[in-house]
Amino acid sequence: MKVGYGWILLLSAARAFWIPSTLHNPSCRLTSSLSVRSSSSTSLLANNAGVYIHIPFCRRRCRYCDFAIVPVGSEDRTGFTQLNDQYTTALLHEITHHTSLNNNHTISSIYFGGGTPSLVPVSTLQAILEKLYGRFNVAPDCEISIEMDPGTFDFAKATALRDMGFNRVSLGVQSFNDTILESLGRIHRKNDVMNALKILQDVWGNDLNYSMDLISGLPGLSVAEWVHTLENVMHLQLRPNHLSLYDLQVEPGTVFGRWYSDSMINSISSSPVTTLPLPSDEEASFMYKYASGFLRYYGYDHYEVSSYATPGHQSQHNQVYWAVDGEWYAFGLGATSHINGQLAARPRTMADYLKWVYEPTVSLPSTNSFQDRLLDIVLKRLRTKEGLCLPWIGETFGSNYQNAIRRGAELGVELALAQLDEERGILTLTDPHGLLFSNSIISTIFAELETLPEWSTLKENETTLCG
Ligand code: SF4
Repeated sequence: MKVGYGWILLLSAARAFWIPSTLHNPSCRLTSSLSVRSSSSTSLLANNAGVYIHIPFCRRRCRYCDFAIVPVGSEDRTGFTQLNDQYTTALLHEITHHTSLNNNHTISSIYFGGGTPSLVPVSTLQAILEKLYGRFNVAPDCEISIEMDPGTFDFAKATALRDMGFNRVSLGVQSFNDTILESLGRIHRKNDVMNALKILQDVWGNDLNYSMDLISGLPGLSVAEWVHTLENVMHLQLRPNHLSLYDLQVEPGTVFGRWYSDSMINSISSSPVTTLPLPSDEEASFMYKYASGFLRYYGYDHYEVSSYATPGHQSQHNQVYWAVDGEWYAFGLGATSHINGQLAARPRTMADYLKWVYEPTVSLPSTNSFQDRLLDIVLKRLRTKEGLCLPWIGETFGSNYQNAIRRGAELGVELALAQLDEERGILTLTDPHGLLFSNSIISTIFAELETLPEWSTLKENETTLCG
């Protein structure tokens, strides 16, 4: 799954790019933004909204992954069909019974993430798409994306996906090095990646609109190998028009969390830690900076911390996530929606999810506090190339908050990690150094906001300030 709001809690380290992205800018269109806001508390994107569908099945759990997934072994395994049917039925039930027909949204993006959506039968994806079309007003030019993993689809399946309307693919490559892929616990190898690319090109031809996921900072990944990886991508017969580059985050509770814990790293052993050490912080930083310059040379726009796109190929779906007040529906295990200013996270275990779907009296944990909304906007906008419009913050939340953000950004500006366009009032992080330290800079701004005397006394009902 590609979006989560746990990120607000993850802001202590400089290396934390494990959040995919993109963005649409309300930036300093102050007048039009405010005129929308004066009549409505809804999205700045007119009435556009996205839909996220979570398909939680993977053959096995990768060693770094803490997403809400269910490892199923082979999809041919007895039991998978039954499990998939049970989940799909629940998902369709959720779409039918947990959304209001009174919404006036036009759906501009549908995104199937996971998990591994390309693992499930075509009939499953078809049934979900049909349900969405029946339930929502889907724009004729809606971007319909699917995450596909090498080794989980063939020509016939890809053709069926194209024919049912998928017009964008996000291919989970992560690495071209078989030793590294093995250490990550990935099921595919470089050969599978090349086969997958050939299938995609044969099916979609030169119209193929695809993104590739790669991870830097991997165990055993040298700077030279990373450079080689990027060169490999640029030499592909059909280059991706979008790249998502993530820096590995070692999450607690994962296999890597155990392998690369301090105690393991400090122990003398023959564990994978000693054979495939993590790159140093300096090496990981270099990988980030190198990628930024290298891809710029090849015509990619670094439009968000982890995202690069050739002209016209920014992810529409991520535009929704990264917009101020972007709205999206989300269905499925662990999925988080953002509708009417309310973030709502679905249960992350299958048993709890199924229970919730069929017992609507169980409410979801959600939040729409003034503080959360402001922090969320600061976080999202500063991860993007367009940045944060301070006058808009002042008009929307109050000049005290605008001033606190300015104070919080001062050190970053002094260190040339951030820049403030005084004329337009737009705060941005510099590329690549500021983006590399985005979490630290944003944390400093958060800390400044939290020192405001009024911060802790705000009540939930004061969210009307934002409407
Ligand atoms: S394929 Fe993706 S979602 Fe599935 S286990 Fe691996 S990282 Fe997690």
